[in-house]
Amino acid sequence: MYRLFLILGLLIVLFVLLKSVYRNSKLAGRPSGPPLDGDQMVQDPVCGVFVPRKTAIVQQVGGISNCFCSQECAEKFQEQRTS
Ligand SMILES: [Zn+2]
Repeated sequence: MYRLFLILGLLIVLFVLLKSVYRNSKLAGRPSGPPLDGDQMVQDPVCGVFVPRKTAIVQQVGGISNCFCSQECAEKFQEQRTS
């Protein structure tokens, strides 16, 4: 009877180990460190609000990309530049 519990305990330990190894291999697929571009927070130069890059409105002006929270801010920025 005692042996049965020992085997059961070993199986649980093995299962937990396999689970952690599986999780680690899954995490290894995604590079750790700097976040992906889409998760990066960018600042709107017009209103100063921080927005995720994937939802921001990006405008290339003279090789520099400006990110805005909305089309309104992008237009406002253009007006400021031209005036
Ligand atoms: Zn804005």
